[in-house]
Parts: sequence; structure tokens; C-alpha cells
Amino acid sequence: MNQIAFFGLGNMGGPMAANLVKAGYKVRVFDLVPESVTKLVELGAESAATPSEAVKDADVVVSMLPAGKHVHGLYSQLTEQPNTLKQGALVIDSSTIDVATSKNVCQLLATNNVSFIDAPVSGGVAGATNGTLSFMVGGSSEHFELAKPLLEKMGKNIFHAGEVGAGQIAKVCNNMLLSILMVGTSEALQLGIDNGMDPTVLSEIMSKSSGSNWTLDVYNPCPGVMETAPASNGYHGGFMTDLMLKDLGLAMDTASKSSSSTPLGAIARNLYAMHSRSGAGTKDFSSIFELLQGKSY
Ligand code: NAD
Repeated sequence: MNQIAFFGLGNMGGPMAANLVKAGYKVRVFDLVPESVTKLVELGAESAATPSEAVKDADVVVSMLPAGKHVHGLYSQLTEQPNTLKQGALVIDSSTIDVATSKNVCQLLATNNVSFIDAPVSGGVAGATNGTLSFMVGGSSEHFELAKPLLEKMGKNIFHAGEVGAGQIAKVCNNMLLSILMVGTSEALQLGIDNGMDPTVLSEIMSKSSGSNWTLDVYNPCPGVMETAPASNGYHGGFMTDLMLKDLGLAMDTASKSSSSTPLGAIARNLYAMHSRSGAGTKDFSSIFELLQGKSY
């Protein structure tokens, strides 16, 4: 695994690629935004003028792109010309996308003798920066073991979820649950506030009682309760409402395909859609608390 190609140097991909450079890998990067490439080059990465140049001789290709259409577009382009990708290379797609696209790209690459795993992440920009992401990997055991040392340079918890596509399933299940917990926590806090309770006191009580959950522990949605949470920073710097909405859309599509009942996930998706439409799309997803407060933008 000497040469790495990295596509997508945005909020997540930028710091992830930086951690690979810091770990001593030879990383060649490509992004549509020149400023993002410059930042990585300053850290020691090599820049590529085209996607084909980026993957030249690359043993591993990592992508961290916005959505399925970008991932499909990139790998369709790279497989159009035979031998653009190195024979026997491994592609690690860490973008959060739909399972069908993951499987489709896997097949496309297999016909070019290139292996594929889906490896979406949890942990946000802070996790990407600190190298503490959780990776949920879908793929064969052999490819999981091959990728693990590299993923460990960008993350702390590396899980083998199952076959190709299973990483994406784990990711949407987790984020659907997270959105439900965030809405529920916001609702409970606002109920307490409306009835004269101090949200800090209420948060402490609930976090040590049966309502305890991750949002109360590290991501309290009420401003002023937790200094380090995005809520205390104007709902900036976390995981955007529009990204949560995208993940909930993927969860609903997945549920529809398997005829699963996800009533609370559907309500959460609708609440996040309303919240986004009201102008909060780029705010952190914990700002759903403001929707329950009745705030309009
Ligand atoms: P972003 O929009 O900040 O970055 C995406 C980058 O991809 C941009 O720099 C864009 O220029 C680049 N890009 C688009 N098409 C490209 C192409 N064909 N070739 C090369 N580069 C291309 O997005 P992000 O926040 O970094 O998220 C990336 C993925 O990670 C998404 O799938 C998202 O759902 C997922 N994710 C994000 C977070 C988060 O907190 N931001 C957390 C977990 C997972």
C-alpha cells in the first residue's frame, strides 16, 4: 500500500487525507476546488490534474464525496478506459451513499480487476480531524483486513459490518436512530423549560436516568448547557441539517425496499425537511431544538 489516491477534500475528506499524509503514506489528491487541493499539498500531498492522473499506480483509492451520483460518476469515468486503475487495487468509498450505488460501483470495478469496500464514517469533522472516526465497513474479510491498517490512521473504531453495502446499511440505521434521539431530547428539554425547569439541571437528571443518550452526554441541543456543543456556538461547526436530511432520505429508501416499518424515522425525516425549508439547512442538526421552540428564521 505505497501509493494512495484520495478524492474529495471537503470538510471530512480534507482532514482524513491530511492524517494519511501525516502517517507517512504517499498521497495523491484530486478535488474540484483548487483551494482544498492547495491545503493538502502544503501538508505534503501530491496534486493531480485529472482523476486518471490521481489513480496512476495507486494501490488504494479513497473517495469521500457528497452523494451517490458523484461516486458513480467518478468510478464510471475511471473504468471507461481500461488499465486507468491499477490491476488489483482496492477502492475504499467512505461517502454516505445508497446501497444500490455501492453494489453497482463494486461490480463495475470488479470487471476491471479492482476490489471495493464501502466504509462510511461516523464522528463528524472533529473525528476526521482527530483521527477518531468510526468506520463501518462492507466487504469481504480479506479486503477488510487489507484496509484496516490504513483506516486506523483515520479512525479509532473500525467495524466489519458484513458484505458490500452493509457499511451503508449500518450508517443509515445509526443516523436514523441519532435523529430520533435528537428530536426526543429536544422535545423533553423544551417541555421542562416550558414548565420552569433549568435545562442544565434537567439535562443532568436525564443523563443519569433512563432517558440517558449520546445527545445528552456530548451534544446537548439547548444553547448554554454544554460549552463544547454546536448549540453553544450558534449551531455552527457540527453536522449540517441538510446532511442529516440526506441520510434520513437514504434510511427511508432502504426501509421502503425492505418493507420495514420506520414510523419514528419517517417523522424525524419530515421534521428535518421542514427545518431545512425554514432556512436551517446549513445549521448543525441539533438546531432542530429551535423548531420545537417555535423559532422561525
Ligand atoms: P463536502 O461537501 O464538504 O466535501 C465534498 C468534496 O467533494 C468537495 O470538496 C467537492 O469539491 C468534492 N467533489 C465533488 N465531486 C468530486 C469529484 N468528482 N472529484 C473530486 N472531488 C469531488 O462534504 P463532507 O462534509 O466532506 O461530506 C462528504 C461525505 O461524508 C458525504 O457523503 C457526507 O454525507 C459524509 N459525512 C459527512 C459528515 C460531516 O459531518 N460532514 C459526517 C459523516 C459522513
